[in-house]
Amino acid sequence: MKWISITAIATTFMMSCYSQPKQTSPLTVTVQQKETMHTDKKDNPVYSNTDTSKVVLKEEEWKKILSPEVYYIAREKGTERPWTSKFENSKEVGTYYCAACGNPLFKSDTKFESGCGWPSFYEPISKGSIIYAPDHSYGMDRTEVMCGRCKAHLGHVFEDGPPPTGLRYCINGVVLDFQKAKEAEKKYEEKKNG
Ligand SMILES: [Zn+2]
Repeated sequence: MKWISITAIATTFMMSCYSQPKQTSPLTVTVQQKETMHTDKKDNPVYSNTDTSKVVLKEEEWKKILSPEVYYIAREKGTERPWTSKFENSKEVGTYYCAACGNPLFKSDTKFESGCGWPSFYEPISKGSIIYAPDHSYGMDRTEVMCGRCKAHLGHVFEDGPPPTGLRYCINGVVLDFQKAKEAEKKYEEKKNG
């Protein structure tokens, strides 16, 4: 009985990701924003924004170097609660990286407001940055997306996105690290200062 209710709750989350966009008030999102750092990179020897070599670690090694929330999504294929990511509404210019290994995944100019409750992108930063696998869990046919460098679970891709790709990469914000584009930051500062 307990198992059935857990499955039902999980399916509800999955279905809300899958279903058509829902709107929420900006206030709700603001309240749920978290400023927590996802990984302590000092304790993560594989973390790099430039190293493209594949990362293969044992689960117990991942457990040691990732925070519990990143581990849960990246290694146990968990799903964060919708509307909880600080990136869901973010329009900042820059690059999104894998929080488990630092691999560049998405550029902010391919991010769009899907209204589904998770950060959404229409295209990965490069062909090799993401790998794909069929996912038939919870009675659904979906395509799982993983980090091309460390195989961290990121989320799923759906075929109801905007042009030019028509794809919607529905990504757990917990497994994303964001770095502002330096150029954009400079322009903003110049504008602010007159
Ligand atoms: Zn990774």
